Amino acid sequence: MADGETGELGRIALNRSDLFREQCYINGKWTGDPTIEVRNPATRGVIGRIPNLGKSETETAVAAATAAFPKWKSETAAARAKIMLKWNDLMVAHQEDLARLMTAEQGKPLAEARGEIVYAGSFLQWYGEEAKRVYGDTIPAPAADRRIMVLKQPVGVVGAITPWNFPAAMITRKVGPGIAAGCTIVLKPSELTPYSAFAIAVLAEEAGLPPGVLNIVTGDAEPIGRVLTEDPRIAKFTFTGSTPVGKKLAAQCAGTVKRVSLELGGNAPFLVFDDADLEAAASGAIISKFRNTGQTCVCANRLYVQDGVYDKFATLLAEKAAALAVGDGLVGVTQQGPLINMKALEKVEAHVADAIGHGAKILTGAHRDSHGGTFYQPTVLRDVAPDALLTREETFGPVAGLVRFKSEEDALRLANDSRAGLAAYAFTRELARSWRVSEGLEYGMVGMNTGLISTEVSPFGGVKESGIGREGSKYGLDEFLDLKAVFVQL
Ligand code: NAP
Repeated sequence: MADGETGELGRIALNRSDLFREQCYINGKWTGDPTIEVRNPATRGVIGRIPNLGKSETETAVAAATAAFPKWKSETAAARAKIMLKWNDLMVAHQEDLARLMTAEQGKPLAEARGEIVYAGSFLQWYGEEAKRVYGDTIPAPAADRRIMVLKQPVGVVGAITPWNFPAAMITRKVGPGIAAGCTIVLKPSELTPYSAFAIAVLAEEAGLPPGVLNIVTGDAEPIGRVLTEDPRIAKFTFTGSTPVGKKLAAQCAGTVKRVSLELGGNAPFLVFDDADLEAAASGAIISKFRNTGQTCVCANRLYVQDGVYDKFATLLAEKAAALAVGDGLVGVTQQGPLINMKALEKVEAHVADAIGHGAKILTGAHRDSHGGTFYQPTVLRDVAPDALLTREETFGPVAGLVRFKSEEDALRLANDSRAGLAAYAFTRELARSWRVSEGLEYGMVGMNTGLISTEVSPFGGVKESGIGREGSKYGLDEFLDLKAVFVQL
């Protein structure tokens, strides 16, 4: 029984208590002894426990996914779609429960968690619909008595590992296209946020997903990761998380030459030009920088502001940041939750200290918040040195550091001076500049005059060390399909 049944679990107040599971899901069965504690980062209270599975249980899950694959891939796209659309309907119907569970384990404000549930469900709906449009090709052959066709077929069993910052959406962004394509999956969510994953599996079962198509394991990341990257029965490995872990796991995949997709860390530049709509730019920066307390891979991490509007923009942004309500996401109208753990808080503090040590000035924040624990005040720093730690590494916290630039050329040079290449943003009202800058930024995604770039209909992913492959949109489905050329001699 969870310590939290009267405490943390009582506060979550689920309408459907069976959405809270403390066991893993393998071959349609709930299994494993719950031993690892999962805590609410806002209160540090124990929500419950999860199993500490390892190599052998992960191999059992791979065996289940392998056994389920032939039947699942032979289902019609319409049959798969029916289940996926129902699954999305169930997520939407239980939005409040799923959101409360997510806020408790992850810390994000309830309003953001509600939004993430709808966003997460959208990948099930969109890919359910798209499964019906996995068209192949016919190619004019070089000889009159030959025919060439290209078939698209599911890659096979997929190993997936996801992070804690979007506990539902990072799962459905992989599981949606994978299952729609006809693949079966073994998923390891972060041990910090497993309950969203388990609740999604409860609803998958209710929607009619057959046993073995989706399997979820939790426990020691290293041995589980080894099986998912090295087992020859797994055809494809897909990972969302930090760049160092992604590199290591990609290397582990080399031995069995798996298809690999990586959604890794970002270090997004946010450019504000003299001709920008400053109100829109400041609002865009708030959305991009402070959503999920700065813990998104596409968070604006380095804000480059042109000379002519620097002071005005800095004041505007600091006012908006200072007005954000900090607190427990389950209580009141919170806009900023806690950081995920102490390590994250210490990283934020190190980045702020480094910036200040190199001459940055505090406009607002720059201290731990009075809520204690891992709460940190929304922070805006000006006069940040262009080579401060804050600009070189992903901060993953609520800190906006402003760097001054003079020309468009300077801005692009600074923005592109990074090994990360996930998202970038720019605010300008000049049409020609918006095109030059969009094309000049070496990033997988560009938000031009907007801080919001995530939707299921558009490809999400990075270049350089931010990853390989795309999630979302028709391109996301291709990641789970192999091409087969069939030659027919008449
Ligand atoms: P992380 O430390 O790399 O962890 C991600 C996942 O990998 C977790 O499930 C973790 O398990 C697991 N893991 C860690 N070490 C492993 C190992 N040696 N073998 C196998 N699995 C291992 O990243 P995070 O701190 O959770 O997430 C934040 C990072 O994700 C940031 O860099 C962010 O930018 C990136 N991110 C990228 C995207 C994108 O779409 N590009 C989206 C969201 C987040 P445990 O947590 O259970 O230890």
